[in-house]
Amino acid sequence: MQDKQLLLIPGPTPVPPSVLRACAKPMVNHRGPEYMAMQRQLERDLAEIFQTKNYVAILTASGTGGLEAAIVNFLSPGDKVLSVSIGSFGDRFATIAKAFGANVEKLEFEWGQPADPALLAARLAEDRSKEIKAVLLTHNETSTGVTNDVKALAAVVREHGALVMVDSVSGLVALDLQTDNWGLDVVVAASQKAFMTPPGLSFISASERAWAAMANATMPRVYWSLERAKEFSEKGQTPWTPAVTLMYGLEVGIAMIKQEGLQNVFARHRRLGTMARAAIKAMGLTLLAEHAQASNAVTAIRCPEGLTSKQIRAKVQEKYGVVLAGGQGKLTDSIFRIGHLGFVDETDILTAVNCIGLTLESMGVPVDVAAGMEAARKAQG
Ligand code: PLP
Repeated sequence: MQDKQLLLIPGPTPVPPSVLRACAKPMVNHRGPEYMAMQRQLERDLAEIFQTKNYVAILTASGTGGLEAAIVNFLSPGDKVLSVSIGSFGDRFATIAKAFGANVEKLEFEWGQPADPALLAARLAEDRSKEIKAVLLTHNETSTGVTNDVKALAAVVREHGALVMVDSVSGLVALDLQTDNWGLDVVVAASQKAFMTPPGLSFISASERAWAAMANATMPRVYWSLERAKEFSEKGQTPWTPAVTLMYGLEVGIAMIKQEGLQNVFARHRRLGTMARAAIKAMGLTLLAEHAQASNAVTAIRCPEGLTSKQIRAKVQEKYGVVLAGGQGKLTDSIFRIGHLGFVDETDILTAVNCIGLTLESMGVPVDVAAGMEAARKAQG
């Protein structure tokens, strides 16, 4: 049916009608008082959501732009960077650092598994001359549906002294991330995930240590310069023309998050993740992440024998209008993913798992749809 679709990919996520309506408001002068009040309030709200006392910059960019800003503002060509990768977005962070001339070493973990803080500690302990300037971490690896224990990983890095840079593009808001308490120097997020806002904005926080490192960081930067962003932020502005419409939307998205309460938002995502995993397992399917660090923002499911991700997703969409994501990189054909972050609730999970089960059944896969639904109902509490 035209315009009827249940979008359950891990970004862009569904946008509430009130956010869409806000995006349609008339343009204002981005150097005028109305705009300046809006930006100042958004920066205060973002700091609260990032759980930081530091300035959070709003960039006109997708999440990747935010990651690039993280690299070019705090590092110099030739700097040694340890990139902890558990999937395709961990790899992307490393690729950006390499492109700007960092000397990148990768610490890789099997896709579907989280990073092991003990192995990170062991590698950092070998670095007696403190060559490693920064450690790159992924909070929530969207490609595999795994959440890293950022608190434990960051504690290990802090002991060494390198900067902790975190990609929380699909983590922030859905999952707890305590920027200041956990000693995270740089954190990057983006609008199109749990902020329930269309794609196009990226947010980045930096600690005092990171600002100090910036003074000696020589990677080239103009558009991504956080120094310029901060200078303009003091006037309630951005150095370049901001994406005003998206900021209108973000105001409403954030108001919804505040109204629900951040802790309740985390709890809802825990509930949705638990429901999805319980249903998938009870149905007789296999999760990619069969451990306690399976993500509450996205669930990755192994394709049953003989079927590709593309075939399954096309059928679920054709029969029921439910849009799921495929795998990425080496998992492209072998997994499919349910995104359950942002403007997503229990009804969406019940619908998704039921439609997945019924579709697979129609494709000849022996699944127990009723057992899956019962498990989801129980997990809902
Ligand atoms: N990092 C993670 C963990 C992501 O999930 C994504 C997007 O899915 C990105 C980075 C890249 O963000 P974007 O596609 O907004 O550039």
